[in-house]
Amino acid sequence: MNDDHDEGESLPSRENVLSDGSEWSGSDHEVGRTPSDGSEWSGSDHEVGRTPSDESEWSGSDHETGRAMADGGSAAGADDVTLDPWGSASVDDYRKLFEQFGIEAFDDVLPQVPNPHYLMRRGVVFGHRDYGPIADAMANDDPFAVLSGWMPTGDPHIGHKLMIEEIVYHQQQGGDAYALVADLEANSARGLSWAEIDRHTEEYLLSLLALGFDPEEGEIYRQSGNERLQNLAFELGAEANFSEMQALYGFDGETNISHMQSVVTQMADILYPQLDEPKPTVIPVGPDQDPHMRFARDLADRTRYFGVTEAYASFEADPAERVLIRAAYDAIDDDDIRCEDAADYLREHHADEAGTSVLPKLDNAGKEPIRPRVRFLDRNATDEAFEALIDAIDGEKRVFEGHVDTFDLDADAAEELAREVELGHGGYGFIAPSSIYNRFMTGLTGGKMSSSIPASHISLLDDPEDGYDKVKSATTGGRTSAKEQRELGGKADECPVYELYTYLLAGEDDEFATEVYEECVGGERLCGGCKEQAAELMAEFLEDHQEKREEMRPVLEELDIDIESPWRR
Ligand code: SF4
Repeated sequence: MNDDHDEGESLPSRENVLSDGSEWSGSDHEVGRTPSDGSEWSGSDHEVGRTPSDESEWSGSDHETGRAMADGGSAAGADDVTLDPWGSASVDDYRKLFEQFGIEAFDDVLPQVPNPHYLMRRGVVFGHRDYGPIADAMANDDPFAVLSGWMPTGDPHIGHKLMIEEIVYHQQQGGDAYALVADLEANSARGLSWAEIDRHTEEYLLSLLALGFDPEEGEIYRQSGNERLQNLAFELGAEANFSEMQALYGFDGETNISHMQSVVTQMADILYPQLDEPKPTVIPVGPDQDPHMRFARDLADRTRYFGVTEAYASFEADPAERVLIRAAYDAIDDDDIRCEDAADYLREHHADEAGTSVLPKLDNAGKEPIRPRVRFLDRNATDEAFEALIDAIDGEKRVFEGHVDTFDLDADAAEELAREVELGHGGYGFIAPSSIYNRFMTGLTGGKMSSSIPASHISLLDDPEDGYDKVKSATTGGRTSAKEQRELGGKADECPVYELYTYLLAGEDDEFATEVYEECVGGERLCGGCKEQAAELMAEFLEDHQEKREEMRPVLEELDIDIESPWRR
């Protein structure tokens, strides 16, 4: 954490968050030195290393968020990012997630969010898939939902707090909120006994309620006790096969069947808020949980009765082919354009791109006119549903084997019509779920925060004095001496204590978070006093939270959820 870096930019701005290219700090560093002057100095003595991941949770809540200041542009060994829901929970270079997996930068959608949470404003929420419909729903007061959960494998801690806040935030913005306990996964993938699972479940739920989840407006459930969920999981399982799980999760012949079943249960969790009514649904997760999101989006699509695509002629074209046909159509600009004209144009102007599949299709169609249209593809529809769709389409239409082309509907109206007919004939009409991704949080001892290293994290059940002591003992981004710190400024972007301020201790107070940052990098703030302030705030938070947890015990007892599981093993 003593690497040189540009300290000229003193504000923890979103530009800093995602484009500073500084090196992610989780790598091995020796940090802190002996104080040489100034009694306030307490850059801690720790040798910091990346800790091997011991566990992660499907909800993305065990590995927490990373810092808002550093994006990690050049971490060694980060050429390939592996996302494994049950494996290593660390990401060295968040930008690679955008390139490799198609996760989008949250910055892009942030301006659309009417009242963004501070975790969004500060870049802790760094990525998303398809969050636009959620932002639109919030802005227009339309229905939407949020769902996340925990695998009850240990005590709730400050990382879980961030994820709970994201559920509560969306609930307060008008969303239907769901909080689930992934107890089947804890049993099947981690092998915890039901007695252990029950104990952790109670602790999680008390913190959930203490942090503001409204159980009157939202729904809390355990996977093991939710029959509708398990029925949905069974149906989704019919759409999934072992090869896919092998490719996505690395399952093999040794993987137990219950673990595979827990995957389809998680797919059902993700789609559960839409069981009664399709609606945009956001799932806050850690980036290592992205395989679940991709799989769930795919399964949501596969269950649909109809696909809706653009088309230009009677034959099927893939998205890349459609782009080329559209280019020819726009360039020729003649109402009487035929497929053979488009083929000639593409041969002349796009020979490299068009050389493979699209030319034979256009040649084969010959003199067939090219006319933009919206196509309904029959995927899983019953005969009755397909007939009903044909009847419901107004205006010019052409019916083919397995698809209907319509010339007077735009794509949005066609999507709406397809969903309406599906719902009227017993289908789910799922909307592909959205997701937001939290950064991992650095451990207080440096490296990854880990439940198996008590000093690296703060449990929400920690005695406030222990929380105080952990913060006081935390590693810092401080310089080797107070004199040097005053001259060069501290490295807030590499400091786990600064993370605590930005992700938790400063709360909604952006000015305070900015003040800590500026004072640190400007050399006005020294680590001893800074940690003292953070430690006191942490102790206050823990005391307050634990009081609220006690107040919530009678509320939890009144809820329709069994804390004591009937399962045995
Ligand atoms: Fe030190 Fe505080 Fe700066 Fe961290 S944020 S380096 S603890 S002064």
